[in-house]
Amino acid sequence: MKNIIILGSTGSIGTQAIDVIKNNRDKFNVLGIAAFKNASLLLEQAKQLRPKYVCLIDEKTCLDSKDRFQDYSFLEGVEGATQLASDDSCDVVLNAIVGAAGLPATVAAIEKGKVLALANKESLVAAGDFVNDLLSRSKSKIIPVDSEHSAIFQCLIGEDTSEVKKIILTASGGPFKGRKLSSLKDITPAEAVSHPRWNMGDKISVDSATLMNKGLEVIEAHFLFGISYEKIEIVIHPESIIHSMVEFVDGSIKAHLGRTDMRIPIQYALSYPKRIDAPVSSISFEEITSLTFGKIDHESAPCIGLALSAAEKGQSYPATMNAANEVAVEAFLNREIKFTDIGEIVEATLSAHCPVDIGTINDFNDVDQWARTLAKETIEKK
Ligand code: MG
Repeated sequence: MKNIIILGSTGSIGTQAIDVIKNNRDKFNVLGIAAFKNASLLLEQAKQLRPKYVCLIDEKTCLDSKDRFQDYSFLEGVEGATQLASDDSCDVVLNAIVGAAGLPATVAAIEKGKVLALANKESLVAAGDFVNDLLSRSKSKIIPVDSEHSAIFQCLIGEDTSEVKKIILTASGGPFKGRKLSSLKDITPAEAVSHPRWNMGDKISVDSATLMNKGLEVIEAHFLFGISYEKIEIVIHPESIIHSMVEFVDGSIKAHLGRTDMRIPIQYALSYPKRIDAPVSSISFEEITSLTFGKIDHESAPCIGLALSAAEKGQSYPATMNAANEVAVEAFLNREIKFTDIGEIVEATLSAHCPVDIGTINDFNDVDQWARTLAKETIEKK
């Protein structure tokens, strides 16, 4: 029996993780759950799962809702989530917090040597060198939950990464594939979050629509697998049957295929190194008439280029890019800016940035705050 902590339990990944756990009650025990501010769903989950700990991260929601959680050890704020991630009895921390706000929990889980099932790609994007430095001094292991990275992780089992020629990250292309940037000005949040293939939360769905998500995933892959940026390629694959591929120096290519159901990579991250039964139907290859591939249209998706250039520059550029993107996506979801403004805000923030090395969490916080403030000021001037 593995004791699991779920951070971000009321979000898309969190609720799907709970589905996986309910199907495998004999294998997983939920020790604690944390949500940002959906107190009602958190309480419902607590009643079903009977965890020891329950945590609300948003401070105002804590004040309003604390009394509803008297039957549980109640933890508050980012500190509460961090405390959960480092609990002695926990075997696996699923970090499904949205955005760089997930970094303190990532750090806590690594410092305590936990298995970290990582859905929070932003903690690697924003502070990859820092996180990897902590990992090198810990017995902790990261098992990626992101479908592409779970695919690559599985392709690399038993392989030597020095024999990797390239990683091929597949991208569905998002809901606006084939459209020119000029036609995307009046896209609404509802249109942007309706992804054609995957069921995901709002932030990542907008990132998938701008293709920023694929840029973040290149950075995530670089830090997870220690592969240089020039060896990571993106290919459009609208069917999303192949979740990613690894090509080796001898020309062999391993691909990971499967249904587009996030419960599969979530379950793998929880059950690793074992595989366990999942209620998914087999893919019928007789019904798949073709698998198609294409090139990224960089002109229509400027966010990819911004992410990749921040990645190449290194230091605090990826943290800056990530913070500006988070602020811009939130403003777009709140209808304060246009869809096409997202890239412009990221670009303006990056071009004003003076880079520093990120060696501590305080270095990260300084850069993150600076970038958020500047991005918000740029939005107010729009
Ligand atoms: Mg992904």
